[in-house]
Amino acid sequence: MSSKVRKTIIAGNWKMHKTVAEAQALAEAVLQGVAKELAGEALPDIILCPTYVSLPAVLNVVNAPDGKTANKQNCFVGAQNMEHRDSGAFTGEIAPGMLTHLGVTHVILGHSERRQFFGETNQGVNLKTKAALAHKLVPIVCVGETLDEREGGLTDQVIRRQVAAAVEDLSAEEVAKIVVAYEPVWAIGTGKNCESPEANRVCKMIRSTINELYGTSVADGIPVLYGGSVKGSTIDEQMAQSDIDGALVGGASLKAEEFLPIIKGGAKRLKLMATKA
Ligand code: PEP
Repeated sequence: MSSKVRKTIIAGNWKMHKTVAEAQALAEAVLQGVAKELAGEALPDIILCPTYVSLPAVLNVVNAPDGKTANKQNCFVGAQNMEHRDSGAFTGEIAPGMLTHLGVTHVILGHSERRQFFGETNQGVNLKTKAALAHKLVPIVCVGETLDEREGGLTDQVIRRQVAAAVEDLSAEEVAKIVVAYEPVWAIGTGKNCESPEANRVCKMIRSTINELYGTSVADGIPVLYGGSVKGSTIDEQMAQSDIDGALVGGASLKAEEFLPIIKGGAKRLKLMATKA
């Protein structure tokens, strides 16, 4: 399957880390590092996902007119979650329109920590995916198996079910706008990587699940990211795989000096793809 038309995406999920001032400083350090160390190079899409309260500060950095930061066209700000309803008596929730009003363009949905600690279900992820698309937010839909499921030989079944549920009742046109992140739960924050060929196999299977539901042209265009203890030392091998179009990064996105080599890995993939095209 050709990957030449797909975007390369490096997203940083900052989880519940960083004060507003710290998030702002991190965003500045990442963007200045990119501007300095990757000047003139084709860049992957870089998506910074701070906590809700830090979104305006990080957006200010990304949209700064001072020219010191990375090419703005490649840098975006995403939320880590959202409510699917537009407004109402839902204490503590944030609506899609509130995110777009700020200038947020992406939203992580169905992260395993949301599924594990906050009762997020496949059906809930589907409602949120629909709401994100209705509001022109790019949903980064996370799927992944637990260690028990992997050891029980259930990986493919679980992932297929999660993917199919997330896109249920969506049109092909809508599905073409989503990003999927394969994040094996046992590899998140554990330092354990899923071996690249296996991660690639699962990413390919995600694409073939979409292919079965929506056809090749939709499936071929969807970026499928890998997430789970991605580091500067693992990214080159991951970005050399046919079906891994980028990375969703947790721990290693919290320090500019650790995140920058991963962004460089994404830039290398773009070059690799250009030579294959
Ligand atoms: C994540 O939070 O999505 C993630 C992949 O975390 P980490 O890189 O720390 O494993």
